[in-house]
Amino acid sequence: MEEHQVIVVGGGPAGSSCAIFLGKNGIKTLLVDKAAFPRDKTCGDGITGKSAGILEELGIEKEITKGQHMKLNGLITSSPSGAVIDSNPFGEPLPEPFYVCKRQIFDNILFEEAKKNADVMENFTVTGLVMENGKVAGVKGLDKSGAEKEFRADVVVGADGANSVVARKLGLNNFETDRSLVSVRAYYENVSDTADHLEFHFLEELLPGYFWIFPAGNNVSNVGLAVIAGDVPKRKLNLKTSLEDIVNNSRFAPRFKNATQVSEIRGWNLPTGAQKRRRAGDGFVLVGDAASLIDPFTGEGIGNALLSGKLAAETISNAAGKKDFSYAALKGYEAKIQECMGKEFEANYNFQKFGRNPLMFNALVEELSVDARYMKMATSAFYDTTHKAANFRIPLSLYIKVFVRYLKSYVRTKLRPKR
Ligand SMILES: Cc1cc2nc3c(=O)[nH]c(=O)nc-3n(C[C@H](O)[C@H](O)[C@H](O)COP(=O)(O)OP(=O)(O)OC[C@H]3O[C@@H](n4cnc5c(N)ncnc54)[C@H](O)[C@@H]3O)c2cc1C
Repeated sequence: MEEHQVIVVGGGPAGSSCAIFLGKNGIKTLLVDKAAFPRDKTCGDGITGKSAGILEELGIEKEITKGQHMKLNGLITSSPSGAVIDSNPFGEPLPEPFYVCKRQIFDNILFEEAKKNADVMENFTVTGLVMENGKVAGVKGLDKSGAEKEFRADVVVGADGANSVVARKLGLNNFETDRSLVSVRAYYENVSDTADHLEFHFLEELLPGYFWIFPAGNNVSNVGLAVIAGDVPKRKLNLKTSLEDIVNNSRFAPRFKNATQVSEIRGWNLPTGAQKRRRAGDGFVLVGDAASLIDPFTGEGIGNALLSGKLAAETISNAAGKKDFSYAALKGYEAKIQECMGKEFEANYNFQKFGRNPLMFNALVEELSVDARYMKMATSAFYDTTHKAANFRIPLSLYIKVFVRYLKSYVRTKLRPKR
């Protein structure tokens, strides 16, 4: 095989995006994945504004909307008290593409685009890194026949997801259970009363996690739940049982009365941006879940995966111009991630903290429902295509208003004299 300047490990949204942008910059790239595409990925399949911005830039937005997908027009959020907000803070129809698309379809379109811009190798499982003078100099792994192979390059991009081998081999695979999420999902046919909205139900037993119903088109819904990883042992949760219990409880059972579960319940880890992780070093860069870039509140990771792939490609292309692939040359990527996502991670981690107390979370949802400005800000991660609006700090005024509401409901519900 020819020499490559960059090896990208993993052809999900982060790796494919990185390989496409590198190829467009004229960088000779090899993209490897242990799977053969099209392959499934356990996910909610919600593709929001953040992704749409990059897909449009890549010119493949239309490819995705040609196949099975569900165009969305807003969000439904319910609080533990049962209050429901049906929101589209921008008015109808939404100004930007916003949809549910099965990852088997979505990732394959990206991977096909990557093939036009890079050499690709499927069924190749990376098992380790080639190190030279303390610097990452390539990867080794097993091909489909089980034969061991080694490939060398100036830079290795770890885009191999939540359990990244690249991050593990570098000792950068921290998973802080109080800052990370775990999640399960299954597909159902015939869930009733689904609209063209993503549904997030913040049920008390999952807080600050939630139960979701995302309509995926053709009368199929992606149904799942996400919780803080550390809450699983603390609350003795079995997530598969929790999901089954919720679809059978009195609130949701009527909607699942005629529904059929058409896939098994599958789960995976979600390393979030609420935990710090080094994302570059001598001869390597981490992107997407391998870089721990999932939104700590919503669990949305596809948009940040695509964006991180683009930012990594920019930095690597600059480094190639100078023929310098040291950490000094690549750490600009870490600064870009911080600039584009840092405030959002902080704000959404704070939203997650609101959710640790049901009364506080009810107060937050009530406040968002009466003030469109706050609602727009809190949901901007879903709607924004520019990656700028989502990068906000929670204003002090919102903290104060939520706290006042919380105090009132605390007095009403906890301190009311017992008769
Ligand atoms: C249940 C669940 C629901 C979610 N719902 C949503 C949602 O609705 N919207 C959203 O935006 N995000 C959601 N997320 C998060 C989202 O799935 C991830 O953030 C996103 O997939 C990250 O993309 P990635 O390219 O970094 O990694 P991945 O999509 O995981 O891709 C990694 C790739 O690396 C390959 N790979 C792994 N190991 C190796 C190896 N050793 N050698 C070679 N290749 C390897 C894999 O085969 C895979 O193709 C959800 C996550 C879960 C678990």
